[in-house]
Amino acid sequence: RNSTRESLFIVNEKARDYFVNTLHNNVDGVAIGMAYFRSRGFRDDIIRKFQLGYCLEERDTMSKAAIAKGYKKEYLIETGISIETEDHRLFDRYRGRVIFPVHTVSGRVVAFGGRILGSKRKDVGKYINSPESSIYHKSNELYGLYFAKQAIVKQKCCFLVEGYTDVIQMHQSGIENVVSSSGTSLTEGQIRLLRRFTNNITILYDGDSAGIKASLRGIDMLLKAGLNIKVLLLPEGEDPDSFAKAHTATEFQAFIDEHQEDFITFKSRLLLESVKHDPIKRAEVVKDIIHSISVIPDGLIRQSYAHECSSLLQVQEDIIIKEISSMRRKDF
Ligand code: ATP
Ligand code: MN
Ligand code: MN
Ligand code: MN
Repeated sequence: RNSTRESLFIVNEKARDYFVNTLHNNVDGVAIGMAYFRSRGFRDDIIRKFQLGYCLEERDTMSKAAIAKGYKKEYLIETGISIETEDHRLFDRYRGRVIFPVHTVSGRVVAFGGRILGSKRKDVGKYINSPESSIYHKSNELYGLYFAKQAIVKQKCCFLVEGYTDVIQMHQSGIENVVSSSGTSLTEGQIRLLRRFTNNITILYDGDSAGIKASLRGIDMLLKAGLNIKVLLLPEGEDPDSFAKAHTATEFQAFIDEHQEDFITFKSRLLLESVKHDPIKRAEVVKDIIHSISVIPDGLIRQSYAHECSSLLQVQEDIIIKEISSMRRKDF
């Protein structure tokens, strides 16, 4: 079993080398793939660092080359690099896409993300990812962690973003303590992984309704795991990638310093906006916020948030504390 695992990593890493080489040295790779990354504003050193690549458009150039080099068909299929047709021919999963290798925390290539060039198409997904395999469990990996871990420890905090390009563009702006759960909602496994490096997380999701919803979901999961949570809401329609591209590194850092807020002020501000003067709706919002506090495992931190909540929402502290106790009795 171990040697199969090792073989799958080796196949992934050979594929990574092939995609990187195509991007830098193949005529189409340079004209199409490299031109795409440049159009997104990625610097060459960043393209190299993240081992970005390109897969040619022909249906099976890569699979053929791999088979010719002696790679086992079964490994190409299990890693998802090749897809087998009903008549047992192989074609390239990532054909015509730029490639984002996904690394384990120790830097092995465990999976790939492939993006179509240009904007959304209805017939194919914007991104496709490696299938789950005996080495790749999407819910246990965080994109960018390998490149972020030292900075996370040094800065004693980590930004959590949605996508590959958000991680990369933030690195380019000098903010290296950043990881992505790659679109899917955060999992327990990802939280466990992140917790090995820091207790302090800033959620920095896209400034759209999906991003806000995901932030609210993420807050309670992270609080439950005992992490300290801040939120940074971007201007409407921006994501960290677009924001970093449109601003200097200094401006980005200034925006962070000014707009990063504790989860409780974020949640209060956001949820209270919609209730106006409706007392019932207001009570529901208060309960929602108290529920978030109630999942925090540390009693002293809970108490401290109860106090904060009291002054923020103008609710008596002893009522909040009672409510927290009754919620904890119900939930745990
Ligand atoms: P880009 O800037 O390249 O358009 P993005 O990161 O802004 O990409 P989002 O739509 O915000 O894209 O999605 C966030 C992340 O979700 C992506 O980086 C990718 O990991 C994942 N994702 C998005 N669309 C898909 C899809 N169709 N299939 C699988 N994963 C996807
Ligand atoms: Mn998004
Ligand atoms: Mn986005
Ligand atoms: Mn984007």
